[in-house]
Amino acid sequence: MNFVPAFLPSSSHAEPALWFVFCGDNMLVTEDAPGIPRGDEIGGLTDSLLRSHHLGTLDDSPCYAAEVPAGTGAPAGMSFHGLRTLLGTLGEDLFTVAGRAFQVIDWDRTHQFCGRCGKNTEPKKDERARVCPSCDLVSYPDVTPAVIMAVTRGNELLLARSGRFTGSFFSVLAGFVEQGETFEECVKREVREEVGIEIDNLRYFGSQPWPFPHSLMVGFTAEYAGGEISIDHEEISEAGWFTAATLPEIPRRGTIARRLIDWFSSGCEAIQGED
Ligand SMILES: [Zn+2]
Repeated sequence: MNFVPAFLPSSSHAEPALWFVFCGDNMLVTEDAPGIPRGDEIGGLTDSLLRSHHLGTLDDSPCYAAEVPAGTGAPAGMSFHGLRTLLGTLGEDLFTVAGRAFQVIDWDRTHQFCGRCGKNTEPKKDERARVCPSCDLVSYPDVTPAVIMAVTRGNELLLARSGRFTGSFFSVLAGFVEQGETFEECVKREVREEVGIEIDNLRYFGSQPWPFPHSLMVGFTAEYAGGEISIDHEEISEAGWFTAATLPEIPRRGTIARRLIDWFSSGCEAIQGED
């Protein structure tokens, strides 16, 4: 992806700006493609912004994240949509920048007051952060690491159905990293806690920013090393071993969960590095 992050705008861009405009958690998109509106297409919305941030440039187009007040109507030919509904339809590059925009807006919205002394915070002038003028506490945008892992046993893959998922689909296991824990320890703990299985031969697979609300999913593959499936019934409602020919309903394309399952389905080939 040709995205270059930058805190401050530069004056030398040939393309008109892309505006990632949020109303609450919903983002403004043009209805034809769907796509992201350009600056000259959103008209009067820029008069009522609650906040805005320059994010960087995508293919030489400056990218801005902004928020409008609740109840703001969409301009003609546009509408507000939740990010999840745009996964797979917006295009991978635009979705990734939209995820960044969502996280910056959500962080700004939720860090208006100092977490230590409660005073109003102010934007820091030289970097993306908010600072408390009373006690000098600096708050940076949150990124919460989580692991996601494909556990294989011979020609089988471990998949589970979460009590949290709205649909009936199965996916690979995942969980948030705890304080003081390595990724590798987290993968082993989550698999043990959720399904009672021991694993080894962990390999890094890849990662994906996941803006719901500010995760970074870090993917691993691992091999079964012992134990019988015993689900915790809190986070997991059902789990089992599946072959590539007997896969249940799985997550849609555009997710690292799906990439891990596709890696298994295509024969667990050696993982190529990505630039
Ligand atoms: Zn303070």
